[in-house]
Amino acid sequence: MAEYDYDFFVIGGGSGGVRAARLAAAMGKRVGIAEEYRYGGTCVIRGCVPKKLFVYASHFSEAFEDAAGYGWTVADSHFDWPTLIRNKDREIARLEGLYKTGLSNAGAEIFESRAELVDNHSIRILDSNTVVTADKILIAAGGRPNHVEGLEGHELAITSNEAFDLPRLPKAILIAGGGYIAVEFANIFHGLGVETTLIYRGAEILKNFDMDMRRPLHQAMEAKGIRILCEDVIDRIVRSADDRLDVTTSGGRNLKVDEAMLAIGRIPNTENLGLEKAGVQLDEAGAIVVDPYMRTSCENIYAVGDITDRVQLTPVAIHEAMCVVETAFRDNPTSPDHDLIATAVFSQPEIGTVGLSEDVAANRFERLEIYRAEFRPMKHTLSGRQEKTIMKLVVNAADRKVIGAHILGPDAGEMAQILAITLKAGCSKDDFDRTMAVHPTAAEELVTMYQPSYRIENGKRVD
Ligand code: NDP
Repeated sequence: MAEYDYDFFVIGGGSGGVRAARLAAAMGKRVGIAEEYRYGGTCVIRGCVPKKLFVYASHFSEAFEDAAGYGWTVADSHFDWPTLIRNKDREIARLEGLYKTGLSNAGAEIFESRAELVDNHSIRILDSNTVVTADKILIAAGGRPNHVEGLEGHELAITSNEAFDLPRLPKAILIAGGGYIAVEFANIFHGLGVETTLIYRGAEILKNFDMDMRRPLHQAMEAKGIRILCEDVIDRIVRSADDRLDVTTSGGRNLKVDEAMLAIGRIPNTENLGLEKAGVQLDEAGAIVVDPYMRTSCENIYAVGDITDRVQLTPVAIHEAMCVVETAFRDNPTSPDHDLIATAVFSQPEIGTVGLSEDVAANRFERLEIYRAEFRPMKHTLSGRQEKTIMKLVVNAADRKVIGAHILGPDAGEMAQILAITLKAGCSKDDFDRTMAVHPTAAEELVTMYQPSYRIENGKRVD
């Protein structure tokens, strides 16, 4: 292996790339890693982490309202966007520093530069225009927001990248998309006092989630004052004389806003990486094709995370990276398990989910039992807020296994993480029933729904 400069070279300093580089370096491998923007990648720099900080910020407006029922008088509140941005930036810089320290402490060599493949063992470091060689290579260059080049006026729109650093908080925003990012940012901006409209091409937001999460969340968002336009898309964006944006939709609507944000999916960063020179195969969507061990069509080159466009979630990229290190350096071929991945949508109320939705399960299994509870969370008895919590378990009647768990309500994401363990362990509804409740909590409903709310047989609901 001595003929190469490195045992392992990683392109991309996001969650997946950094984890693989750090683990391999800690094993004594000679590791190099290159990142063209900032270490930490999408998740830390302009994704999950700043998003969650914004979510916390946006919660306060309702918390101030809710306080009154508990006897508090909250003085006139005022939100200052530059303060949030400044404090968020400080935290992100701290985390970026930790990522780099972790890498250098493990012994990895850090390049702050774009890197591209020259062939399957050589990498060009663009800033210094040098070429280094490596025995094994990992591509973890992530993805970027889809900007819809064909949309008239798309250059006037922002994406989540810019939303984290807007110089001014808009008075009114239009957000396009019905997925994670669109729904989360609609709630964030609304909570910060922005007049918010969501426009989505489908009939109901959050395709692929359980309908008992989708519809009630839609209703709850509208009840707060978020305008949701379904079955419509942006047709044209024009800068108006008053320096705002005039947006026309295919459905004939005209909206005037300060910002239009596109949150319509992300695309893998595979362009100009030299992948074709190394013989790395892409699929029709431009994502790197990998086998179950994250190996590309080029045997010494691996890929993990968003650039493979399979499951675009940070913990998945990290897990895949750990599998690559096992496979490549510990002689222990390890394949990531993508089954039963729990996720959360940090909307208000929040969604936490793991396993199959009722609709998908009904197509797959002959008989289901559905356990469903809808109630006003205890906190809102005094706050006066009308929002409901919904909890739902989808159970395969044949073996009593819980195959789906869905929660809409405060802390749903936290609950989904724990529920994921029970589903992964193959727990049955009887295991849930035998479990003593924690009282008084919302989560106790999960173990006290003794009778099915209804049954599904051969795809049809029977009460
Ligand atoms: P999603 O895939 O979640 O949603 C994309 C949305 O855009 C869908 O509603 C889709 O519609 C719509 N869409 C796609 N193309 C067009 C188009 N040409 N015109 C109009 N609408 C369109 O992607 P996001 O961008 O929201 O997020 C990217 C990924 O990041 C997510 O898939 C998720 O994995 C990850 N993420 C996870 C978060 C979390 O875990 N909390 C938070 C944020 C992001 P349709 O439904 O009809 O296909």
